[in-house]
Amino acid sequence: MNQDHDQNSAQPPLNPGPIRSVAICPICDGGLCGVRICTGDDPTEPLPDRGFVMCDECEAVWMGPDVQSEHHYVDAQHTECPVCHGGLWAASRWADRDDVQRLGWSDAIDAGLDGESDV
Ligand SMILES: [Zn+2]
Ligand SMILES: [Zn+2]
Repeated sequence: MNQDHDQNSAQPPLNPGPIRSVAICPICDGGLCGVRICTGDDPTEPLPDRGFVMCDECEAVWMGPDVQSEHHYVDAQHTECPVCHGGLWAASRWADRDDVQRLGWSDAIDAGLDGESDV
């Protein structure tokens, strides 16, 4: 497949699902609360190394791994990264195992919800 399309689109490039998730979404009861890590909207700046949690179904967002805490929603008209406020899909990505470790959120991960089978 040819994946060579534009980089600055506001749409998710391939919209892959979360890699590491903390829970089934308590809001919509169906999505995965996946950990995303902010990659910043300025490539000349060091990575912020700040994460957030987002449901892949209803796009509820939590600023920490506790999905019982307060949430808000991604603005469908202006999807932006809640950390750096760059474009959501350009300025953050689903966090992998190393990212989650760096965030210190490993304990919050539900291994049964893993999107990768590397255990
Ligand atoms: Zn960001
Ligand atoms: Zn949800």
